[in-house]
Parts: sequence; C-alpha cells; structure tokens
Amino acid sequence: MNDYDSNRIVDLLRNEMGYEKTDNLEEADLVVVNTCAIREKAHEKTYSDLGRIREVKKLRPSMRIAVGGCVASLEGENVLKRAPFVDVVFGPQTYHRLPDMLRLREETGRSQLDVTFPEIEKFDHLPAPKIEGACAFVSIMEGCSKYCSYCVVPYTRGEEISRPMVDVLMEVAQLADQGVKEVTLLGQNVNAYQGAMPDGNLADFALLLDYVAEIDGIERIRYTTSHPREFSQRIIDCYARIPKLVNHVHLPVQSGSDSVLTAMKRGYTADEYRSICKRLREVRPDISIATDIIVGFPGETEEDFEETMQLIRDVHFDASFSFIFSPRPGTPAARMPDTTPHRVKLARLQKLQALIDSYADEISRTMLGTEQRVLVLGHARRGEGMLMARTDNNRIVNFAGPDSLIDTMVRVKVTEVFPHSLGGELL
Ligand code: SAH
Ligand code: SF4
Repeated sequence: MNDYDSNRIVDLLRNEMGYEKTDNLEEADLVVVNTCAIREKAHEKTYSDLGRIREVKKLRPSMRIAVGGCVASLEGENVLKRAPFVDVVFGPQTYHRLPDMLRLREETGRSQLDVTFPEIEKFDHLPAPKIEGACAFVSIMEGCSKYCSYCVVPYTRGEEISRPMVDVLMEVAQLADQGVKEVTLLGQNVNAYQGAMPDGNLADFALLLDYVAEIDGIERIRYTTSHPREFSQRIIDCYARIPKLVNHVHLPVQSGSDSVLTAMKRGYTADEYRSICKRLREVRPDISIATDIIVGFPGETEEDFEETMQLIRDVHFDASFSFIFSPRPGTPAARMPDTTPHRVKLARLQKLQALIDSYADEISRTMLGTEQRVLVLGHARRGEGMLMARTDNNRIVNFAGPDSLIDTMVRVKVTEVFPHSLGGELL
C-alpha cells in the first residue's frame, strides 16, 4: 500500500512541481518520508530516519522534509513536537495536497500539517499513473472499517471507501495501454469492495474482477489483501471462470484459535477459514494459499498456539507474513493483559515459520516438471542470455531466452528446484 502511495506521490511531485526522483539524500531538495505504523518497530523507524535526514538538512537548510503515511496520521502535531525541523506533515488521504502544502510552507515560513480524511476523492487530484515494466498496482478501495482489536489501520487510514468502478476500469485500461500485463488490485480488504456504477447500483468485488478480466492486454490479475469474513462464494466462483486470476491467494487468518479470533474481533472461526480454503481448492486444486499470522496475541495460550499450528497443517500454507503481536496506541488489544514472555512468543514464531517454510519447499518441489505461465521481469541476476520471470505463486524462475520476451507472459517448464528459485526451459 505504501509502495503504491509513494509512487503516486512521485508522479504528483514530478507533474505539478517538476521534481525528479533521486536515491541520493545529499542532493535531495525535498525528502518525503512515507511512514508505516502497523507495528512499533516500523513506527519508531520514522524517528531514527528523521534523525539521519536532519543531519543533512543542517548542512543545507534549504532542504525540505515532508512526513506522510500512518505515523503522521496517528501522531499529527506530535511529529512536529518531536521533530520541529519537519516542514510538512500529511496523511494517507491528503497526499494529493502535498504541492499546496509545500507552497504554503514557503509563503508562510511555517510548518504545515493536514492529516484529515477528506470526503473528496484524492484520486481525482492525482495524475494518471506512469509505469515502468509490466506490473502495476491499482488502488480499488481505501481505509478499513473492521476495527480488529490489535490494528491501527482504521484510525490511520480512515473508514472503508471504494473507488467508483468506472474509475478503476479506466485506470486499468490506461495501464494496459502502457504495456502493463499484470495488475494487483489493492486495498485493506479488497473483497469488501462496493463500487458505485453509472446506473446507481453498487458493484461487488466479484463483478469488478469480471470486468477487469475483460480488459485487453491484462493477462494476470492479483489482489491484496482480502479478508476471510467477506470471501464470498461469488469470489470463489470467479476462480472457476476467470483464468487470468492467478493461482495464488493471500488470505490473512491471524490465528487458528477461535477464542483468539474472537478476542481479535476477526468475525470468523478457524473452521470457516478452512471451509473457504477447501472450496477454493475444489475449483483450483493446486492454488497456493498465503497468509498473515500474529503470534503472542494477549492471552494466547500454548493450546491456542497449537490450534494455529494445526490450521497451518490443514491448509498447507505456501507463505506467511507472520509477526509477534505489537501493542499499538489507541487499540483495545494494547490494554489487554499480556503475560506471555517475549522469548516464548519468539519460540512460537520460529516454530510456525519453520513449518510454513517446509511447506514452501515442498510446494516448490512439486512444481518440478510442471508447465507454468510466467511474467518475464528482466535479465536474470546471473548467466549470459538468462531471463528471470515470476510464477503465479511468486516463485522466481530463471531460464534461457531472448530479450524480446521481457515484459511478456510465456510458458516455461520447471526443470530445477533450488531453495529460493527455480530453473526452467522456455516452451
Ligand atoms: N487488512 C488485512 C491486513 C492489513 S495489516 C487483513 O485484515 O487481513 C497487515 C498485517 O499486519 C495483518 O494481517 C496482521 O497480521 C499484521 N498486524 C496488524 N496489526 C498488528 C499488530 N498490532 N501486531 C502485529 N501484527 C500486526
Ligand atoms: Fe487492520 Fe485488516 Fe483488521 Fe482492517 S481488517 S482492522 S486493516 S487487520
């Protein structure tokens, strides 16, 4: 999400103010820090990064510093208190106002702050996305109204709001015109999508998928993230009729224990989650399923954790983003009693990750000898004449082929399996 926002900010600053992107801090006229508040570690990184940037600004006082994203949203004024050398503070829903805020900073000589959630669509104020390569993100909905007890997102990004369907389709079509083959539809819970249609009705996510699949040039559709609570049969049915939909889904479960899921306010049981996976596999037997898991939620017992391990065994996850619970300011879970020692949580995390890693290796091995459709990303890191491509389930395959295949979809046969990549043959 932040990656997408950062790219839009770059497009905006280039179009409206003539900035060019640089990776060299020393030569930057403006530094934009797009922050993440999902866990404490990311949150605190904002201030260590700002400390480093301040040193450069001391040598060159004309340099401007803008802080955006969820830390800015959560802390507001406090960013300016902790880091008074910051010039502009903006939120995830106000970055389209960045040029105006920067101008005001010059006119008034004072730091500017706007972390509101305006009702107007920020997308109406952003330039059409500029893309390099064949993959692109498209935001379809913003914010979140689920209020899981541990999560800061609803407070930092605001309530769920969907972009109108025509806007999304226009953006995808523009990207396809620029040579994009793979789109990733983006949102906190994409399957909660309720996009206005020209006839006044609302389109759900399944309908949106049908329309996106109709756009010429788009050959592969991904989305992230979806929520088990709204993973309807209509979405599962899409996997039967839309071949462009990848054979991979990222569906965060968070825990395999019903009591923990209830305390998290997730709104589903472990068995309901199993049922979704089972029905998905009925239409796509070899679909790979990835997930997010939180370990050490307040009150998580050894039995609760064992239930999570059992769920992992049942579903056979291919990958996970798994982390130890991090208390976030303002969330109910931050006030729940938490007596599990950190070392116990760490041991649970390592055990769980080792199991999922072993399944990932196993899945890679079953791919040996199979035919895969892949998107060619560019030259392989090693080997003359070797190309690098990505499979549906996010494996990198290296194979020999001409440069003309870069940014196209091709079929390869998997001939070798390594720990972190595959080797293949162009078909
Ligand atoms: N909307 C998505 C996920 C968004 S946040 C969903 O609900 O599935 C991405 C992931 O960060 C979450 O799935 C969760 O696993 C993790 N996360 C969020 N808050 C956290 C916290 N306080 N501590 C640890 N992990 C957290
Ligand atoms: Fe956070 Fe996802 Fe829950 Fe929303 S649904 S509150 S983004 S974890």
